[in-house]
Amino acid sequence: MNQTSFPKLPELTAIWQDTLNWQPTPAQQDLFQQLFELILEFNQQLNLTRLTEPEEFWEKHLWDSLRGIAPVLSGKIPAHPGDKIIDIGTGGGFPGIPVALVLPDCSVTLLDSTRKKITALTTILEQLNIKNTIPWVGRAEALGQHPKHRESYQLALLRAVAPPSVSAEYALPLLKIGGLGILYRGHWTTEEEKQLTFTVKQLGGIIESVDEFTTPLTNSVRHCVSIKKVKYTPKQYPRNVGVPGQKPL
Ligand code: SAM
Repeated sequence: MNQTSFPKLPELTAIWQDTLNWQPTPAQQDLFQQLFELILEFNQQLNLTRLTEPEEFWEKHLWDSLRGIAPVLSGKIPAHPGDKIIDIGTGGGFPGIPVALVLPDCSVTLLDSTRKKITALTTILEQLNIKNTIPWVGRAEALGQHPKHRESYQLALLRAVAPPSVSAEYALPLLKIGGLGILYRGHWTTEEEKQLTFTVKQLGGIIESVDEFTTPLTNSVRHCVSIKKVKYTPKQYPRNVGVPGQKPL
């Protein structure tokens, strides 16, 4: 077994089934492996991830990315062909690339403000022959005011990008009414929930659910916070680039 292959693959496959009631196809499994190898290769020149051990990559990038869309994988939340998904602050491509690999009929925009990262992801996606992603260099605050992007996404994913209220200001303007923003969080406090409830109300959203779980290999506690768009977002949001982070709602 080479250093870059996933050890204990049958066990990991069983974990998908046990935890998400879903399994990758052999072709998707193969794409996960190729993605891991390509990320490691590009990581030599550019800091795409600090998770380079096979098992931590599997758990914290692949499994965690897909845990966020567990209700979609189980069919509880339907994904329709052509649905638009955006990963805001995708960095090394997480959670957006694994999501695109398992939802090939949806279009996944991978947004990041760092050009070098998006250039690397574009090459990686070409090498994987993945056609349903749109790598995009830009700021969430600018995209949220762009007429082609505003109120056009069904799902917005945000992991390790900004505090909850800032993430909500990035996500809600981009969502269609009925669309969901998924905030991937480590810890989650009642204070954060109180603050987020207040923020999403101003942006036309509600907190739909807070889902606590533990990761399957290292038992780390994590949360997925779903915010739902229920009304149009007032035009003044998102505010200018940098303002949401400097003066969170
Ligand atoms: N989501 C990835 C993950 O969980 O591995 C990457 C997280 S990385 C810590 C945060 C990324 O968000 C960085 O690549 C940064 O350039 C990007 N970012 C931060 N603020 C942003 C904004 N307002 N618009 C677009 N990208 C942003």
